Amino acid sequence: MRSMLVTNIGELVTCVPGQGEGPLGIRRQAALVVDDRKVAWIGRAADAPPADGRVDAGGGAVVPGFVDSHAHLVFAGDRAGEFAARMAGEPYTGGGIRTTVGATRAAGDEQLRTNVARLRQEALRQGTTTMEIKSGYGLTVADEARSLRIAREFSAETTFLGAHVVPAEYAGRTDDYVSLVCGPMLSAARGAGARWVDVFCERGAFDADHSRAILTVGAAAGLGTRIHANQLTAGPGVRLAVELGAASADHCTHLTPEDIDALAGSATVATLLPGAEFSTRSPYPPARALLDAGATVALATDCNPGSSYTTSMPFCVALAVREMAMTPAEALLAATAGGAAALRRDDVGQLRVGARGDLAILDAPSFLHLAYRPGVPLVSTVMLNGELV
Ligand SMILES: [Zn+2]
Repeated sequence: MRSMLVTNIGELVTCVPGQGEGPLGIRRQAALVVDDRKVAWIGRAADAPPADGRVDAGGGAVVPGFVDSHAHLVFAGDRAGEFAARMAGEPYTGGGIRTTVGATRAAGDEQLRTNVARLRQEALRQGTTTMEIKSGYGLTVADEARSLRIAREFSAETTFLGAHVVPAEYAGRTDDYVSLVCGPMLSAARGAGARWVDVFCERGAFDADHSRAILTVGAAAGLGTRIHANQLTAGPGVRLAVELGAASADHCTHLTPEDIDALAGSATVATLLPGAEFSTRSPYPPARALLDAGATVALATDCNPGSSYTTSMPFCVALAVREMAMTPAEALLAATAGGAAALRRDDVGQLRVGARGDLAILDAPSFLHLAYRPGVPLVSTVMLNGELV
């Protein structure tokens, strides 16, 4: 494997506090060498060791590759009509998920695989080097296993979300569906290589008792836990996430002061998904209160065809800064190291010796431009596993 020197860097944003200036550990006149898929050296450009190849950053900022810790990529069809209706005043209820379940069940494997590949490539072009992928639009044993097998072709971070909604054929029989999820569906998910188990804990989806049952059984089967919590109402999801020691409570849109204190005093990451609030015209989560309380915050896209059809982490960074009162530094940290924490990973989301060689070069001198120039394709070059893509 060829080693590669990245040089002529405007600012090297390591996202390792203490490895440079400020909370992002920014280094100037710096260079970086990747070798054997990993960051092998960081230092003054003038002191750079020889390498097999050279990448000229053209004076642009270099940031860690984004870590998108929440995405629903295995589906068929789209819901543009539902979006238009919502923008004309209809509220979002989550009911449209069943529309996508129908389209996904009817699709062939190759159609699903092609759609995941398209979205994963779209995200990669915008600097996302780690992307979690959930199932959750199959909702039968066979269709959940199929979704996870396809997801596993694109990511090591795959999540079993059989408890997305109760499918129509189980209407009024939630207990029976939860038994299916906890039994044969979970076994099939494990067999298909799932690393995580997730539940949509929300009014109209799964209550606290059902969610606890599914996550407890999933954890006992060796899966890590994460929860869709407090998206539409200030429900029990966040408290359950903290109680169970889940890696992440995702959405966190409607939080009580007790929820914020619970997250701040725990190892559970608060993963915020502002693309969902943008696309459902909803109030944004209280990022400022979470950060001020000391919670670890991640930003992710929630890419899905209903409530947030974006793969763009730079867009989420811009929303977090403009709409959620996060500083540009807080937002970038949440989109990199924060996402890594939400996936319990320490080898991505940061640029330090030994980390995976994942980075994005911006067509801008500073990371500030990610929020300052919203909607502009600033990522000019992406390196994944030490290779240019
Ligand atoms: Zn989601």
